[in-house]
Amino acid sequence: MAESAPNPANYSCPAPLGGHAEIQMAHGGGGRLTQQLIERIFGPAFANPALDARHDGAVLTAPAGARLAFTTDSHVVSPLFFPGGDIGRLAVYGTVNDLAMCGARPRWLSAGFILEEGLPVATLERIVAAMAEAARKAGVQIVTGDTKVVERGKGDGLYVNTAGIGWVEHERVIAPASVRPGDVVLLSGDIGCHGMAILAQREGLAFESPIESDCAPLWPAVEALFAAGVEVHCLRDLTRGGLATAVIEIAETAGLAMALEETAVPVGEPVRGACEILGLDPLYVANEGRFVAFVPAAQAETALATLACTAPGGPPARIGAVRGGPAGEVTLRSVVGVERILDRLSGEQLPRIC
Ligand code: MG
Repeated sequence: MAESAPNPANYSCPAPLGGHAEIQMAHGGGGRLTQQLIERIFGPAFANPALDARHDGAVLTAPAGARLAFTTDSHVVSPLFFPGGDIGRLAVYGTVNDLAMCGARPRWLSAGFILEEGLPVATLERIVAAMAEAARKAGVQIVTGDTKVVERGKGDGLYVNTAGIGWVEHERVIAPASVRPGDVVLLSGDIGCHGMAILAQREGLAFESPIESDCAPLWPAVEALFAAGVEVHCLRDLTRGGLATAVIEIAETAGLAMALEETAVPVGEPVRGACEILGLDPLYVANEGRFVAFVPAAQAETALATLACTAPGGPPARIGAVRGGPAGEVTLRSVVGVERILDRLSGEQLPRIC
C-alpha cells in the first residue's frame, strides 16, 4: 500500500443515519447495516488506501527484512465515556502501547466492533471519531475491521477489539528475559489516574479535583529512548493490575528480584486522596499512559532526562533496582523504611477498567 499519512481532512463524520437513529438487528440481509456503517461512518473516519480498497483484508507492505510485532486487546470499559477518554481512544492507545512496549513502531490496526441493538448511531459516531483522532496522534492506520450486532440487552452498548502490527527497527530484544541484575527501574510518570477516573465516573463520586484518565500513546517516549542511545532491556505499560502487577510479572518471568522505593513512586494528590477514601492501593490501580523501563544503571540519568521531555504525565522517576534473587520477589520499602513483599492481587481490584 502507499505509505501516505492519514489525511486529517477525512476524519470528520458524515451526517448520521437519521437524526436519532439506533443500531438495529439486520432485517432480511445482514450486510445492509454493515454496508451503511462502512459507507457513512467507518470509511470516511478511518480513510486510508488499504481500507479504501474495500477488500476482505488489508494487503500491507512492511520494510524488507523487518521484524514485526503483533498484538491484540479487547475493550469492554464501562462507562463508554469517562473524564479524559472513551472506549475508542482506549482501544487505539491500548494496542499501540503494547506494540511500543515490544520496542515496535505502531503502524496498522484492525478494529472489530460488537454493537448492541439500540445503541444510538450518534454514540458510535463519537467513538469512531475519537478512534480516528487517536490513530492520527499515534501514527497508525486502521486498515481493516468488522462489525457484528447482538440483541438488545446482550452487549452493553459496544465492545471493541483492536489488533495491531508494528515493526522493530533495531536489533534489541525488549523483553523480561533481557533484564539484568543491577538494572534500574524507571517509571514514566504519576500513577493511578485512569483507574480512579473510571471509578469516580462509574460510582458518581465527586472529588475536590476531578481526576482525568491518563490514556495516551507511549511510542514517542520509547522512540526517544532509542534515539538517545539508551540500551533499553524491558518495557511494560501499567494497565490492569497497575505498577505492582507489572513489576511482579516481569520479576517472575525474568527469574530476578526487584526492590522498589515507595517514596520514589509519583502519585498525584487527588489520586492519593481518592484511593485513601476508597481503600485502594495506587500501586495496583490501572493506568493507560504510563510505563516502566528497565535500563542499565549507568544510563539512568540519560533515560530520565529523555523521558522528562517525552513521556506523558511526568516527571519520570527512578523507583527501584533489579537484584539477582530470590526469583520473582518484589519488595517495597515504605515511607517509614519497612520492607515488605508485594503480592499479586487475588482478584481484579477494579473490573471493566479497559
Ligand atoms: Mg501491556
